[in-house]
Amino acid sequence: MQGLMQNQPLLISSLIDFAERHHGDAQIVSRRVEGDIHRYTYRDLAARSRQLANALDGLGLAQGERVASLAWNGYRHMEMYFGVSGSGRVLHTINPRLHPEQIAWIVGHAEDRVLCFDMSFLPIIQAVHAKCPTVKQWVALCDADKLPADTGIPGLVSYEAWIAAQNRQYDWPQLDENTASSMCYTSGTTGNPKAVLYSHRSTVLHAYAAALPDVMCLSARDSVLPVVPMFHVNAWGIPYSAALTGCKLVFPGPAMDGKSLYELMEAESVSYAAGVPTVWQMLLGHVKPNGLRFSTLKRTVIGGSACPPAMIAAFQDEFGVEVLHAWGMTEMSPLGTLCTLKNKHLQQSRDEQMAVLQKQGRAIFGVDMKIVDGDGKELPWDGKSYGDLLVRGPWILDTYFKGESPLVKDEQGRGWFPTGDVATIDADGFMQITDRSKDVIKSGGEWISSIDIENIAMAHPAVAMAACIGMPHPKWDERPIVAVAKKAGSEVSREELLKFYEGKTAKWQIPDDVVFVEAIPLGATGKMLKTKLREQLAGYVLPGVA
Ligand code: AMP
Repeated sequence: MQGLMQNQPLLISSLIDFAERHHGDAQIVSRRVEGDIHRYTYRDLAARSRQLANALDGLGLAQGERVASLAWNGYRHMEMYFGVSGSGRVLHTINPRLHPEQIAWIVGHAEDRVLCFDMSFLPIIQAVHAKCPTVKQWVALCDADKLPADTGIPGLVSYEAWIAAQNRQYDWPQLDENTASSMCYTSGTTGNPKAVLYSHRSTVLHAYAAALPDVMCLSARDSVLPVVPMFHVNAWGIPYSAALTGCKLVFPGPAMDGKSLYELMEAESVSYAAGVPTVWQMLLGHVKPNGLRFSTLKRTVIGGSACPPAMIAAFQDEFGVEVLHAWGMTEMSPLGTLCTLKNKHLQQSRDEQMAVLQKQGRAIFGVDMKIVDGDGKELPWDGKSYGDLLVRGPWILDTYFKGESPLVKDEQGRGWFPTGDVATIDADGFMQITDRSKDVIKSGGEWISSIDIENIAMAHPAVAMAACIGMPHPKWDERPIVAVAKKAGSEVSREELLKFYEGKTAKWQIPDDVVFVEAIPLGATGKMLKTKLREQLAGYVLPGVA
């Protein structure tokens, strides 16, 4: 027997319709590329998204065709999130930090037909446009009078001139909810990047889940600053969850240094912020030495790479800001787990609670996870056994765009996505990442977690960033060393740092050496690039190894 409830597709257009109707006057504030602050409401966002949809119709763009963005977090980018996907086209958010050659490659692979870019990226477009034959329309996300006369890009229009004359009414199509809505290429540390193609259904389900109290906990009372870029996994889904909750949104534009972020937070009474550890490192690096306080910030979600415990402690103990440690992947829309305490933890000591909060957290309803050994056998949830982390769920990738399905089948024939992460899961279901599988250090048959080693170094006051890698060793197979970038003006010696490890980890896990570097190489999404670090350290030999 079938249920007798209304069968309505889950569509991104319904999010913007809802926001307009129920939170029409809630504010969206953006720092623009020009440096000024732009302010409008969800009502304006909805109307302009419809104008954009009409402009795409005007180009004769068919449903399913790709419209690319190369843009910072801002209101025009947000309009693309709804105007492009809502009208049945696919929004392809491109990471501007990729190498121009790689940008040209993914534009061709995605077969982008329109590409809208912030003026900061004009030089990239000037360099690659001739290599992007699929693009029929180039759009500069700026006012008509900000468009330089002679860019060399054929047919370039300003976004404002392009949408100005368009009708503010538009009937969003009633699409099948499994229709593709947006796409994002993975950072791709090896080979060419792979594209994840999200659907309306996966996006709306993820938006619901992300807003839950034990997930990102977003509400109409919040003022939310997504520092996590809209070009990286849809800013962790915040644009969609924002429309669903009607929170105030504050977009940082290109200014992501500590001072600019702090000033924006204070000026716009930001209560909630989201970003990767490297960004928060810069924020704390501004706030602490200047003796500043956060007057409204209550919670921050930190993910994308392991959040060092020292950072969690700094936010919580020094500033009273709650840290939500999150784990996810481009292939997972991206949220998989978030770390919040359970009722039973409330009676525990601060130290016991901190031990829980350092983990990557509990699975969100919708995400099923397990850890398996090398033979695919499931491992116990005892907080000690570690193995390859596999996940499944309705907002998790099945097959890459124009590519293969990486899923592995279980005995019931269900497909699981292998995350490439190595993790433990404790009896309460808290997952902790110990490594990317390729970064695990194997010493004398035992595994050493590079994240653990990095976290200890990061707790030293003179250390800005630390990356631990394994180096070949004739007896132990591999031994860890830690590459350290010092904070400006701070000093620490190799010996002091090695001493700092004593008592904080098993003796055999203490790195064999400390190598000081100017900076730890970062990839396009702010994650440490250990492959690059290895290249930089080519020829390095461990102390005592001939
Ligand atoms: P991406 O698809 O570029 O977002 O990268 C996903 C990968 O980032 C994951 O597979 C993890 O290796 C890493 N990652 C994301 N969040 C965390 C976290 N909280 N702790 C440790 N690693 C993380």
